[in-house]
Amino acid sequence: MAVTRTFSIIKPDATRRNLTGGVTKMLEDAGLRIVASRRIRMSEDQAKSFYEVHKDRPFYGELVDFMTSGPVVVQVLEGEDAVKRNRDIMGATNPAEAEEGTIRKTYAESIEANSVHGSDSDENAAKEISFFFTEDEIVG
Ligand code: ADP
Ligand code: MG
Repeated sequence: MAVTRTFSIIKPDATRRNLTGGVTKMLEDAGLRIVASRRIRMSEDQAKSFYEVHKDRPFYGELVDFMTSGPVVVQVLEGEDAVKRNRDIMGATNPAEAEEGTIRKTYAESIEANSVHGSDSDENAAKEISFFFTEDEIVG
C-alpha cells in the first residue's frame, strides 16, 4: 500500500473543549503522521469556498457559521492509504452512528459539531491540502 496524504481539520467544537491534543493522539495512534499543522480562524469566504460542494444542502449556511465560530487546526496527514485510514479513525458523520473507538464517537457533539473533517478521496485531498498549505510548509 502506498504512502499518501490527506487533509484534516480539527473543528471549533474540539478546539473549544481543548481537544487538539486528544484528536491528534488518536490520529497518530492510527498510524498517521502530522506533516503540517496550523491553528487558524477561518474567514467566512474561506469556509464558503472550502464547503462549496455542499452549497445546495440545507445545512450549508449553518455549517459555514459553525466553521467560523472559533479556531480550527488545519493539518496534512501522511501514512499508508491515508484518506481511508483517516476516514476509518474519524468514524461516521453522525456520531450516533459512529463506531466505538473512533474520533467522532469519542468526541463529537452532534452531526454538525463532529470534531473533525477529513478528505474523502485522493483527488479532494490534493485540492484541500493546496487550499491551505504550500508544498514547502509540508515536512514529512
Ligand atoms: P463528512 O464530514 O463525514 O465527510 P459531509 O461531507 O457529508 O460529511 O458533510 C460535511 C460536514 O457538514 C459534516 O462533517 C458536518 O459538519 C456537516 N453536516 C453534514 N450533514 C449534516 C446535517 N444533516 N446537518 C448539519 N450538519 C451536517
Ligand atoms: Mg465530506
